[in-house]
Amino acid sequence: AIMLMLPAKVAALASKVIVTGASGRTGRLVFSQLNTNPKFEAVGCVRSESSAKRLMKDVPNCGLEQLAILDVTNLDPSSEPPKLLENAEAMIICTSAVPKISKSSIIRQMLKIPLNVLRKKPAINFRGFRFRYRPGQEPEMVDYEGQKKQIDLAKKLGVKRVVVVSSMGGTDENNFLNSIGKAKDGTGNGDILVWKRKAEKYLVESGLDYTIIHPGGLLDTPASQQQLVLDVDDKLLKNEKRSISRADVANLCVAALEVGKDGQNASFDCIATEVEEGTEINLATKALEDFLAKEITCDYSL
Ligand code: NAP
Repeated sequence: AIMLMLPAKVAALASKVIVTGASGRTGRLVFSQLNTNPKFEAVGCVRSESSAKRLMKDVPNCGLEQLAILDVTNLDPSSEPPKLLENAEAMIICTSAVPKISKSSIIRQMLKIPLNVLRKKPAINFRGFRFRYRPGQEPEMVDYEGQKKQIDLAKKLGVKRVVVVSSMGGTDENNFLNSIGKAKDGTGNGDILVWKRKAEKYLVESGLDYTIIHPGGLLDTPASQQQLVLDVDDKLLKNEKRSISRADVANLCVAALEVGKDGQNASFDCIATEVEEGTEINLATKALEDFLAKEITCDYSL
């Protein structure tokens, strides 16, 4: 009875979960879900003070005391981890290098519109836009080195399970996403999917329990409006529609903490498709349970 009188999170039963990249578009959905679920105590890692402010504005009830400011490119795994992160049971990694669009490439594409229209081509060629990563914040530094450091930190903290939001497309080095950040001649820093996959392999070999999620194109739509489809090895890339809502991905992250047994690991791709008439939409927990029952996982030798 005394337990019932205490706020749920003080009941010491809540399991502490670290969300990194917590101010990102998927990260903040994961953080906010955990923050409102009495089973969990959410703590977040954000890149900067301004990211912390942004997160606190977007997520009601998120206090500064729940956040650690930590740029993963500067993370030193040999130094003492922030006290806030101690005794965490899981870590959900939502960090990612973020490309910035080059303004001159926008102008160039705009100038081409009249000619494109005249030639009856699409007015704007989106593939003509150029993107750059900020120096030191390239995929190699954030998605590989930074992610390895987060995995090392998880180990040091005694975290049991690491969940990673990565991306579909990792089996193909020629995937368009790998060209982002590079010059036309292929030089420069890019290869985001290559670096993400290398970090995934590091996690797979770390001995920690893991769940690796490879979503298709991310949309800012509500959760549970479409049917989740989970598969492996980029087979879903064949689908014409291969997007998924960030909110559904966030639900899958939380589901990864709730379903499956200790020691049960999985790496999978996911998209969401239109619901067939007369069928019910599966919750993320059910979709993940069904996938785990198949006992398949992505093949990292591909
Ligand atoms: P996002 O909004 O781009 O968020 C990325 C987060 O990483 C941001 O919060 C950013 O911090 C943080 N970050 C970047 N560099 C960092 C550093 N050095 N130290 C600490 N934090 C750092 O993410 P998203 O669009 O929701 O995507 C989530 C994941 O899905 C990413 O891995 C993405 O690559 C992947 N994905 C995306 C798509 C798509 O269609 N966009 C498709 C498939 C998979 P700040 O908030 O401070 O900037």
